[in-house]
Amino acid sequence: MNAVVSLLGSSAVSSAAAWLTRGRVRAVAYHDVQQPAAFAAQLDHFRARGYRTITGGQLADALAGVASLPERALWLTFDDGDASVAQVALPLLRERGMVATAFLCGAWIGTDEPPWWQVLEAAVAPSELVATRIALKRGPDQERRRRIEQMQQALAAAGPPSVGQQWSEGDVHEWLAAGNEVGNHSWDHPCLDRCDDEEQRRQVRLAHERLSRLIGAPVDTFAWPNGDASPAALAELQALGYRLVAGCDHRLVARRSDPMAVSRLRLDTSVGPNRTRAIISGAHSSLYQLQHLVRGGRPSSAVT
Ligand SMILES: [Zn+2]
Repeated sequence: MNAVVSLLGSSAVSSAAAWLTRGRVRAVAYHDVQQPAAFAAQLDHFRARGYRTITGGQLADALAGVASLPERALWLTFDDGDASVAQVALPLLRERGMVATAFLCGAWIGTDEPPWWQVLEAAVAPSELVATRIALKRGPDQERRRRIEQMQQALAAAGPPSVGQQWSEGDVHEWLAAGNEVGNHSWDHPCLDRCDDEEQRRQVRLAHERLSRLIGAPVDTFAWPNGDASPAALAELQALGYRLVAGCDHRLVARRSDPMAVSRLRLDTSVGPNRTRAIISGAHSSLYQLQHLVRGGRPSSAVT
């Protein structure tokens, strides 16, 4: 498969794929930024290929038909509010005149609360990690919370508590001051489709209220935690006036896409230049959809 990705990322194939899909928007979902040099190289690649960054608000306007976008429009997003985005990504974006959207969880801003999957990683043997994570994501949310709470207690009894690297309120203001955007990523990141309807509404509403208060304007962009869409949460988002809702299904965005179901390409800083070219050109998305079709089932369980 690496040989196929290598071929897709070759200059000829990626250029052809980019040309064939030139009318589509690239929305990219990052999480943390572990490798600053690799991230800088990815940004430089986007710039060299002529991509121009847009905000979620601009994309929402374009999908509503009230504004147009540049031909090679690129929407960069970062889910979960890892501190590396504020500390590493922000200066690299700023020095290139690029903008992005950070999807934040309302409960975690200004805390050292570790996301639940980091508790899991600290508590479970590597050999059991994937299976345990899948089981927790597929079970009822109350059960996931109960198991994570047990793990946290066991970790606290064994040594110093696990600490997360979350954004401060100051990080949010600095991010916005550079022309970037903040979106809602739920209150504390459950898989919403595993929550009852009332909990789904609470997750959306609480994060909306905190983020809107913090930035001084109503937040109107949302990204599904773990990529899991759910009807009750979607209805709450619509009632709150949200204009754009993003998933994580690794497709390009057609100019007439449903703004409440916007696709994003998955990328991280461990991805090398060849694969990055394949992903951003749209070639990798086609391969991924084909693989998904052949294998059936849901895409990777590792998405957060
Ligand atoms: Zn997330």
